Amino acid sequence: MSTVLSARNVSRRYPGGVDALRGVCLDIAEGELLAIVGPSGSGKSTLLHLMGTLDRPTSGTIRLAGHDVAALSDRQLSALRGRWLGFVFQQFHLADGLTAADNVATGLLYAGVARRRRRALALDALDRVGLAHRVGHRPAQLSGGERQRVAIARAIVNGPALVLADEPTGALDTGTGHAVLRLLRRLNEEGTTIAVITHDNEIAASLPRRVEIRDGRLVRDTAAVR
Ligand code: ADP
Repeated sequence: MSTVLSARNVSRRYPGGVDALRGVCLDIAEGELLAIVGPSGSGKSTLLHLMGTLDRPTSGTIRLAGHDVAALSDRQLSALRGRWLGFVFQQFHLADGLTAADNVATGLLYAGVARRRRRALALDALDRVGLAHRVGHRPAQLSGGERQRVAIARAIVNGPALVLADEPTGALDTGTGHAVLRLLRRLNEEGTTIAVITHDNEIAASLPRRVEIRDGRLVRDTAAVR
């Protein structure tokens, strides 16, 4: 299995001297489904930003799909993100004025895909998340669970090497949250590599691999004992 993301001794100190991450080492292999779990303030968002190439470590190395993030310009990084990563957020982050199909198609805007092909791929991704019957709906016409499915379709439409899902069930009721997790599990079975960032131990316990962080340190990784 190839490694899609590798963090080596990654630390992040914020201005003012907060050590949000300290010496984190983490490898994610193609095909994995893992939880990155820890209480509020433990460094999850910081790690997510570094894994998502939205921020750079103070020290240590992040490699995404074989590329050393530190060696790239901002422009190259955004191209790398567009090609290899998909993002899912707690609050969905959909554009209110766009239909579900157009929201998903925006995931391909920077990939140089022609318009007609963007639409075909968007419809295919919506079908994969069970929303083939909602492609013309705008976010306001969709339930919370459906909105998150649209966001998940947008994250997978470009066939990313890694999907980063930040508290993907945090804005949903329990039943809907479970359905979204089932969807993520199915997409993983179909080949998508997914990291779920969560403060919820129950969600973390339901996933095949758990990486725990506390006070900026990686304190447990169940992959290490497999
Ligand atoms: P989590 O996502 O687990 O809640 P964060 O990564 O947001 O944790 O935060 C880790 C630590 O870094 C916390 O102590 C937080 O206050 C601090 N922190 C986060 N972002 C910043 C920032 N931009 N500037 C200074 N300190 C920050």
